[in-house]
Amino acid sequence: MEKICVAVRVRPPVSLETSGGVFWKVEDNRVSLHRQHDTPVSGTSYAFDHVFEETCSNARVYELLTKDIIHAAVEGFNGTVFAYGQTSSGKTFTMNGSADNPGVISLGVKDIFDAIQMMSNREFLVRVSYMEIYNEEINDLLAVENQKLQIHESLEHGVFVAGLREEIVNSAEQVLKLIESGEVNRHFGETNMNVRSSRSHTIFRMVIESKGKDNDSSSTDAIRVSVLNLVDLAGSERIAKTGADGVRLKEGKHINKSLMALGNVINKLSDGVKQRGHIPYRDSKLTRILQPALGGNAKTSIICTIAPEEDHIEETKGTLQFASRAKRITNCVQVNEILTDAALLKRQKLEIEELRRKLQGSHAGVLEQEILKLRNDMLKYELEREKLQLELEEERRSRKERDQCVREQQMRLQNHNSLVTSSGGNGSHSEEQNSKRQSFCEECSDSNGICQGGAFRTPCSKAAPNAFVVKRSNYSRLPEYSPLPDTFSNVADEDTWLKMNKGYIADLDSLQMTPATKVQSFPLNDGTPGCSNENYRDVQKLKRQLENVTEEKNEFQRKYSEEKILNARLTGEISELRQEVLVIREIPRRLYESVVSSKDFYEDLLCSMKSFAADGESSTAKKLVSISEIGSSLFSTLETNFLMAMDGDKSFSNNDSLVREQCKVFCEKLKSTISALILSEKAPIDNKQGKNSPCSCNNKVVCASSLWLFLTYNISFRNEALTHLVLIAVKGCAQEEESTCWKEKLSSELNTIKEKYHGLEKDLDLNNKFLETSKEMYDSLEREFRLLQEERDSLLNKVSESSQTLTMVTDQKENVLKDYNTEVEKKKNLEEEIKQFSAAFACRQKSLVSFHSDLKSKIEKLRAQNPVSVPKSRG
Ligand code: ADP
Ligand code: MG
Repeated sequence: MEKICVAVRVRPPVSLETSGGVFWKVEDNRVSLHRQHDTPVSGTSYAFDHVFEETCSNARVYELLTKDIIHAAVEGFNGTVFAYGQTSSGKTFTMNGSADNPGVISLGVKDIFDAIQMMSNREFLVRVSYMEIYNEEINDLLAVENQKLQIHESLEHGVFVAGLREEIVNSAEQVLKLIESGEVNRHFGETNMNVRSSRSHTIFRMVIESKGKDNDSSSTDAIRVSVLNLVDLAGSERIAKTGADGVRLKEGKHINKSLMALGNVINKLSDGVKQRGHIPYRDSKLTRILQPALGGNAKTSIICTIAPEEDHIEETKGTLQFASRAKRITNCVQVNEILTDAALLKRQKLEIEELRRKLQGSHAGVLEQEILKLRNDMLKYELEREKLQLELEEERRSRKERDQCVREQQMRLQNHNSLVTSSGGNGSHSEEQNSKRQSFCEECSDSNGICQGGAFRTPCSKAAPNAFVVKRSNYSRLPEYSPLPDTFSNVADEDTWLKMNKGYIADLDSLQMTPATKVQSFPLNDGTPGCSNENYRDVQKLKRQLENVTEEKNEFQRKYSEEKILNARLTGEISELRQEVLVIREIPRRLYESVVSSKDFYEDLLCSMKSFAADGESSTAKKLVSISEIGSSLFSTLETNFLMAMDGDKSFSNNDSLVREQCKVFCEKLKSTISALILSEKAPIDNKQGKNSPCSCNNKVVCASSLWLFLTYNISFRNEALTHLVLIAVKGCAQEEESTCWKEKLSSELNTIKEKYHGLEKDLDLNNKFLETSKEMYDSLEREFRLLQEERDSLLNKVSESSQTLTMVTDQKENVLKDYNTEVEKKKNLEEEIKQFSAAFACRQKSLVSFHSDLKSKIEKLRAQNPVSVPKSRG
């Protein structure tokens, strides 16, 4: 167990003016806040492994704090050095330095190569990478095209950044040039605090592999692989103070967030081994990458930089509190030795070892360069292939997601179909569809081996690797990966950050960060040949899905056209019904017309009857007048009723009872009139006076007209008794001997009237019946019409919904088709690239072999020319 080494470095003040208040005083390895008259402020004194005052140079910081770690890295120990502190406190100055005051990184790099030179008994292979974490995204600073890189994890390689460019290097100058080129790609911003304040965390990484030389008797087969991280953190800052807004504010939030995650990890780790519990490394990319450096297998140094100005006292206190807690962390450090083929050195070494040994001499320098170039080329190819494989995996994953999406769409379509079919009452089709879908799902689940409930395969369990290990997946199966939260929805407010510096541990659960055990695995990849088969299967599957979608679409179109036909038929029926309704509406008018003509006829008849009753004062005349009144009132009632019916008045049916009522009244009146007539008729018969004949005739006329009127009017009330009474009256009239001619005339008239009456009665009956059936028909038709209207409306709705869905489905289909085409295109390109790469690789191998044989022959020649023994390798 080894404690983390923590130092504090005070930056020189920006201006020489002193505010006259408090100041930070450095004494040995202690820094404390003092008042003007040198009296210490209680509770503000902090001790560390080292405290560097303002005048201290980077070289001294390196010497005391970093050198050991650098040397340990050459010996196979992981090492991390990072600078922590508020913006503008001197982190970048410490790590990068300036031309006349080189920083920790350049001093460290030079030292590494010096140390390698010193270790003549070991062979070394050094490679470097340079990355930044900007707004929680990892970008490659050595290859700008490598953006948003993902952190992956595997049993063999531990935590690694996939797709990161690595360069094999053999001199410090080469490394410094690479860093210089990478610096150009860094993110800078302008805040009030620091004009060129770095907005990203940068991690410069060196992987040092070494192996004992074969001629060393103590050497074993084991390869040492160590990782050295030199980290320049972005500044912690109080947003209000820096005047950050917009993009700067967002950056600030991310910076604070990952620093908060770092603070949380440090705080948890400083609790001591027993109380530690779960360490939230996964809460930020920074802590995830630095995991081995924090409580793991790495020698770690932290340089906490502080600004001496009085207005930064709060931030400085925060930084010092953070440093105090970090001091309590212990790491478990050991040399990383591996015996597997995972070490690049082992593989390349075997190929080059012999050449290197043989080529020492006059051409050695040139050939060394050639070898280095070849090595870098090989590494690049490997990385390239790795990247392609990862891309392929990504593509497979996204294809799976698309599959899922297509399935969901199908479900939705299916639901819609069943809705349509159930409304059409056809269940068999829906069953058929269901079974189709089921078989499709089964097919998918078979081919993918994934449960349909959306559950992924159980991830392989993974021991938290506490070592930095480099990744070259070419020699292993594809790695597992652990997706990290891409965005931080919760913002670390600066108060929390300050509190955390004081040891407060934020409630991570409430921040909804990544749970500790969330590890997801890639499906295993069997290599390139299997991959193309799998691709073919995927393409076939996609094709099948496309066919299914097309089928569904066609089905939809068919249904749509069926619905259109049905709609047209219904519209036809509706117009027919409308015609019928018009005809029915005509009926009351016709009836009205026939009533009007009957009325005319009745009035004519009454007029002619009145002409018989010459004496307007006679009772017969009076009776005629009253009958005429009753008749006209009845006709007008009929007219009104029919008019109302014509207007479509709904109260027409109610008025029927009114008509009946009037009819009754009329019958009563008629009854009394007839009985009065009979009585008046009896008196002249008893007197046997011929002069009364006209009166008697008049009575007969009245009687006949009453009869006609009664029969005409008595449409529905067939009062048999009354009819009988009328017939008796007519009989009485017929007995009159003297008025035979009148009788004949009247009887013929009566017959005509009777016939007319019968005809009219029949007509009326028919009309009545027709009217009633028409009314019923009209009602039912109206009901039907309304129903049809509703049905038509709902159908129209459905049709519009269907057409919408159809458009949507067509769109989706087109999208799927587009995606599919792009996928196929991409796949082709990838395959092409793989082919090209394989060809290039084979070619390179060939050239290497030929180069090898060339060299061999050259050596043979050299040997033949100069039989002196070849000097030993430099290492
Ligand atoms: P940070 O990276 O913490 O935001 P910088 O390293 O960019 O801060 O430092 C801010 C400014 O202060 C720079 O101009 C830098 O040159 C200067 N500076 C910081 N530390 C020192 C130091 N120890 N000696 C001289 N100048 C320094
Ligand atoms: Mg900086």
